[in-house]
Amino acid sequence: MDLHRLWNFCAIILGWFAVFSAVSLLVGIYYTYVLEFCIFTVTSLAEKVIYMVFYHIFFIMLAWSYGMTILNRPATPSKEFDLSDIEQGQFVRQEKQDFHQDILQCIAKELPIYTVTKNGNIRYCRICNLMMPDRCYHCLACNKCVLKHYSHCFLVNNCVGFSNYKYYFQLLFYVMLHCLFVCTTGLQYAMKFWTQELPYTDAKYPILYMVGVNAVLLLFIVPIFIYHCWLVGKNRTSAENCKPLFFRNIPTNMGFSLGLSKNLKEVFGEEKKYWLLPVYTRKGDGCSFPTGYERENPEQNGIDF
Ligand SMILES: [Zn+2]
Ligand SMILES: [Zn+2]
Repeated sequence: MDLHRLWNFCAIILGWFAVFSAVSLLVGIYYTYVLEFCIFTVTSLAEKVIYMVFYHIFFIMLAWSYGMTILNRPATPSKEFDLSDIEQGQFVRQEKQDFHQDILQCIAKELPIYTVTKNGNIRYCRICNLMMPDRCYHCLACNKCVLKHYSHCFLVNNCVGFSNYKYYFQLLFYVMLHCLFVCTTGLQYAMKFWTQELPYTDAKYPILYMVGVNAVLLLFIVPIFIYHCWLVGKNRTSAENCKPLFFRNIPTNMGFSLGLSKNLKEVFGEEKKYWLLPVYTRKGDGCSFPTGYERENPEQNGIDF
């Protein structure tokens, strides 16, 4: 087994272990909140009902978006970005990089590729043997090129990219709401247990643990969520935020940002009623994206290379 395969194998095992740990934690919090907290600790019936209803709304939305993030596997480039057998043969026969680029430049004329490397070369994945569409990157953990790639997240054992970014963003949002709700409703009872204002019961330590864990989670999740709000607003992936993009024949600073309203629609879809629901609403095919240049120069109607 070579190192690359060993890394893939470890990534898969680590990923499923992380998912199992996250689900176990979630089940533990659910049990503590519903049984130990709402049923055995809270005394007012009205309070019990309100807490249960709102908690279940947040829990269901969290579980739904988590499931969708895990189950929507990475989208890969369409066949048109593959090199034909003849082109691959030319690649093998010629070792010179310049010659490779000549072939790629020629093929890329037919494809909606706007971004290039820093040196102006067409981006090509030697592992997958394909020309990379804009915003596509090779993921070492998944061992494939992933469309509109953000990063590989072990907590969902999946790549976050074109196929599931909306669900991932919603997952962050609902985890944050869930943690906030558990902390705000549970804190006063945790304080009363801590100061012995409430008599000791078997629920004391599970409730203290639950509030503590959710408070720590909240500290991590809020900055991540704010960062992703910023990325959505700018229509950038986390990968693009780390490395600047280089465009062919377009001013580089324009990027893929289309203005806030359109940037939101690029991730959440055209219909606002579905923005909070983890359902399919994504636009486009993930291989080509409108650019800021087209927005500011609509008469161009595409860019002539
Ligand atoms: Zn690749
Ligand atoms: Zn991946």
